[in-house]
Amino acid sequence: MSTKHTKAADRFIANKEQETWHNETLWMVREKRDRMAMAIPEWEHLRELAAKVKMHTITHLDQYLEKFVSNAESNGVIIHWAKDAAEHNQIVYDILSKHNVKKLVKSKSMLTEECHLNPYLIDRGIDVVESDLGERILQLMNEPPSHIVMPAIHLKRQEVGKLFEDKLHTEKDNSDPTYLTRAARQHLRNEFLTAGASMTGANFGVAETGDVVVCTNEGNADMGTSLPKVHIVSMGIEKIIPDHRALSVYTRLLARSATGQPVTTYTSHFRKPRKGCEMHIVLVDNGRSGILGNKEHIQTLKCIRCGACMNTCPVYRRSGGYSYTYFIPGPIGINLGMLKSPEEYADNVSACSLCYSCNNVCPVKIDLADQIYRWRQNLDSFHKADKMKKIMSWGMKFLFMHPALYKTGLKFAPVVNHLPRFMLYNGLNDWGKGRELPQFASESFTEMWKKGKVQTNKAGSDEQ
Ligand code: SF4
Repeated sequence: MSTKHTKAADRFIANKEQETWHNETLWMVREKRDRMAMAIPEWEHLRELAAKVKMHTITHLDQYLEKFVSNAESNGVIIHWAKDAAEHNQIVYDILSKHNVKKLVKSKSMLTEECHLNPYLIDRGIDVVESDLGERILQLMNEPPSHIVMPAIHLKRQEVGKLFEDKLHTEKDNSDPTYLTRAARQHLRNEFLTAGASMTGANFGVAETGDVVVCTNEGNADMGTSLPKVHIVSMGIEKIIPDHRALSVYTRLLARSATGQPVTTYTSHFRKPRKGCEMHIVLVDNGRSGILGNKEHIQTLKCIRCGACMNTCPVYRRSGGYSYTYFIPGPIGINLGMLKSPEEYADNVSACSLCYSCNNVCPVKIDLADQIYRWRQNLDSFHKADKMKKIMSWGMKFLFMHPALYKTGLKFAPVVNHLPRFMLYNGLNDWGKGRELPQFASESFTEMWKKGKVQTNKAGSDEQ
């Protein structure tokens, strides 16, 4: 049956050139990741360690959060707690209002996407400027990210050239990447200089010291936080890690898994406000504490948002990030969407071939594919099981419970081989799109066995 995912994927693959290019680009990133991983003999040990430390931290989250908060506060940071997206947005707005901020410059944060912060602030008269290049491009296009690390990976430079021509008045038909990057830098410089506050996400929060660690390749987080007097950090509670030793494990894994780089160009530690300035950290739950109590899906909280599961996923690579209905696509997005609202995001569970490649690349060893499989098994409990599949399963069950009927069915099955093609491959048969039904054998195995056409060898296995 067609789902929102399959329909959106159809639209994406209708442009063959785009599909091929998207697939090949992401596969190239996956191969870079492989080369990086293979160059480190202890790679698998690092993954194991990263998985264990994350699991330990999230299962002792209360203690680590207390430690983090106590250390951050003694560094002079103001801590806020947000139980959900609405509270998060209100807290950010209150801070900005208190300082009469009219322009906020942001570095990339998937959590603020999750909370829909930008439209919330824009509706209240605040100019929100994304400073990550990919995010800025998408903001100018009024589009969401299609990938969590490379948000504009679905766009070609010619499209960016046209957009900049229109919005930033760059030269006509100039899509040279260096030229476009310089134009964006020039445009953003002015935004940095005139912003009243900056906002960053957080890759890690170090409990031992109260540091927030932000990894970027463009230095935009550093630029944004160096100029305005107010810095707001938006951070999910699962981003806590115990100490700098643990951080060293994650920084070795993160960039290698994400883009195949040995490390991100900037790994910035924010510990305290600059003199005369304020630093705020908003710790956001928004459903995370509920996942802590969910044995089957607790592992999703280990995610360090590297995007490797997307880069390797054959479905993501060929259907694009916008084919998923949850704002995070790919294997981790399928699981997080289901945890957020299974009724709303159940369509995405079909976007998986169960090849298990995501499990194999995930730097923190999340059992992504196993979880997707489990969601599929439970679809009926959310009233989301495909009706046609349910009827067919019921029919097969009935047939297996009535051997005489089953045998009669088998006897007449070869008739299907002679049906006109339009009766088998039509709008009712989604399965038949791109697949060919095998020919039914003229004799069943049981009949052949009875007629002595099946021989048994000495080792006990059957041979015809
Ligand atoms: S689930 Fe694993 S591979 Fe996917 S984004 Fe998270 S850490 Fe990376």
